Amino acid sequence: MLIFGHIGLTIAIIYTFQRIRFPGLELDYRLVILGSLLPDIIDKPIGYIIFQKYYENGWLYGHTLLFSLVLLILSYSAGTKYLVLGSSTLLHLIEDGVIVHMPRTFLWPLQGWDFSKNEEFTSRWIEHIISSLYTDQYIQITEIAGLIVISYLMLRHQLYIKANLIAFIKAGRLIDK
Ligand SMILES: [Zn+2]
Repeated sequence: MLIFGHIGLTIAIIYTFQRIRFPGLELDYRLVILGSLLPDIIDKPIGYIIFQKYYENGWLYGHTLLFSLVLLILSYSAGTKYLVLGSSTLLHLIEDGVIVHMPRTFLWPLQGWDFSKNEEFTSRWIEHIISSLYTDQYIQITEIAGLIVISYLMLRHQLYIKANLIAFIKAGRLIDK
């Protein structure tokens, strides 16, 4: 799953849960977006660029259950409104299927301090991502689904109106009509 897939699916899950269980609660959706991408923001530069030869993998510390749990504890102590940050990173791991594809990474460091290597790793990872947009149906479907969710919420909460857009940028609020 790439950028829009992660953002769209994570927002859809948290938005639906909030509307059903906590209808009056205002969430900071900027934190949801950040959390939905944070594991990749941390791990991709480390594993694909800075320490590429050492790790050969884009799933490292940010893709561990431990990382999300620490974030959940830290965000809880910072205030309940920050809980969406840790929840969103946890959803990212579920969306990636880390527990299925790389349980050792998911459970790090319970099964050892080192990380598994990605057998499909390629140093031409940017080309690989771009080509997957054309050839990988799963990537195509999840990216389109993510864009549909994002577009729906932008229309539903009228983010094309300046005041609503500013409320979103300043506080992550999605204002109802
Ligand atoms: Zn990821």
